[in-house]
Amino acid sequence: AKYTIVDQDTCIACGACAIAAPDLFDYDDEGISFGLLDNNKGITPVVDEEMIDELEDAYESCPSNSIQMSDEPFSSEKEEAS
Ligand code: SF4
Repeated sequence: AKYTIVDQDTCIACGACAIAAPDLFDYDDEGISFGLLDNNKGITPVVDEEMIDELEDAYESCPSNSIQMSDEPFSSEKEEAS
């Protein structure tokens, strides 16, 4: 499984990620991207092979390296709850 989160501080609202991975990313009112699966918390695993391919496409297509990808969740559920 892969986990993903958008670094919204560096996102330049170019739109590339949601074209590459429309199931995984969308944009807010200002065009800044966020992870669709868990509202950009980085805790929901992407398990489907095709979705992981999409994620890797988005990761590679982001011009500002704002798409982050990891084998581990970006924050624990416990931290989310506090
Ligand atoms: Fe932002 Fe990168 Fe997505 Fe462009 S590809 S909207 S810079 S996260």
